[in-house]
Amino acid sequence: MGLDDKLVRKKLEVLLKDEALVEKYLRVFGPRLDMNNITKLKQDQLKSGQGGSTGEKDDPTYQIKVKCPICSQADIICYEIKAKSLASAPDRFLVPRYSGVKPFRTINYSLFSVTVCPSCLFASPDKKDFITFSVQVRAENKSQLSPFVLEELRKRVDERKKLVTAADFTQYFAHPRSADVGISSYRLAIHRALVEATLETPLAWYKAGMYSLKIALLTRDAGRDDTPFLKDAVNYLAKSFRNSELKNPELEYQLLYLLAALFLRLEDQTQCQNYLGVLEKWRSEQEKAAKDNPAVNSAHVTRWLDKAKELWTDRELPDLWKH
Ligand SMILES: [Zn+2]
Repeated sequence: MGLDDKLVRKKLEVLLKDEALVEKYLRVFGPRLDMNNITKLKQDQLKSGQGGSTGEKDDPTYQIKVKCPICSQADIICYEIKAKSLASAPDRFLVPRYSGVKPFRTINYSLFSVTVCPSCLFASPDKKDFITFSVQVRAENKSQLSPFVLEELRKRVDERKKLVTAADFTQYFAHPRSADVGISSYRLAIHRALVEATLETPLAWYKAGMYSLKIALLTRDAGRDDTPFLKDAVNYLAKSFRNSELKNPELEYQLLYLLAALFLRLEDQTQCQNYLGVLEKWRSEQEKAAKDNPAVNSAHVTRWLDKAKELWTDRELPDLWKH
């Protein structure tokens, strides 16, 4: 950016008092100062009513604007949950179902959670994967994804576009989203995670697995068969386990529970027993270690082992997987 461009940006910041608007101005009109354009932009903003947090009172979400790290598209709206506005109850595979806490209304946040760039279809439920703006220091925060991952994702725009059939992506991914659009948003997020996995990015397989479980729940709640997505999930999560992606023991116990539950649901009892066996082994190791060292606590591993065993005991119940 040249010196003159910087000066224009500074003046725009003073005149518009909103970083997202400044970005929009520069994108639409370029780095030339024109009061008519400024007035026009402000009026448009008022008309569209997108003042950031001016949602309805019972809306459990608020909006922030982010920028795409792949194609620099600005003003992409990202929906975040307001504090204490939604309660959640997990299904068997630990995917939350949401309900509103008074005075907030109930929404299915899984339909909102993935932010999609309408230009290049970069998608993630984690806003830190996008470029965000820090109001305090008045600076952009870079995407947390590595430059190598971003470069690879830049090469794969066409692949992403093949995953979604829509004439107008902005309209297609606008809210409120149907279950099918929510599923499309997670398919794009899985595509991103798998690109991360090819570059051995930490937690990439785990993310792909957890996104697949979101798709499975959206599919099940829409009254359709979730089996193909559970198969994807178990495949990705088993890779996550083999690669020891999770460096946190408690999350690893949880992952083993998930693998045992998924194999049980997919009627592979041998594999379910294998993962239960790993949990059993870890628990006895922890109990042994606890005898010598009182700081070792086997409560976490026991909790996830008990939860997995409970499913095994109830495996013949007809509505076990409906939750
Ligand atoms: Zn983009």
